[in-house]
Amino acid sequence: MGEAERGDTAPRQRIVFFCANGHETATWFAVEAAIPEAWDCPRCGLPTSTDVNNPPPAPKIEPYKTHLAYVRERRSDADGDALLEEALTRLRGRRGG
Ligand SMILES: [Zn+2]
Repeated sequence: MGEAERGDTAPRQRIVFFCANGHETATWFAVEAAIPEAWDCPRCGLPTSTDVNNPPPAPKIEPYKTHLAYVRERRSDADGDALLEEALTRLRGRRGG
């Protein structure tokens, strides 16, 4: 770097960002610079906050599902239950008969 000792650098402030995994990331900003609200943790990529007691929660990453996929999933569950019920009924019937 080599410019830190020149004495003519703009005043800077040290901002520490905290992520939900407990990582601390200290970064220097010019005093006049706007502190970014969103700063991804360089270690785990989670969003961070300057508030140690209130780091933003990790975003839930859910695989994209279409409505049809949900319907199919539900239907296959119902089908599975129905098949199981049918099998049990047949089994009981056989035993009983
Ligand atoms: Zn982190």
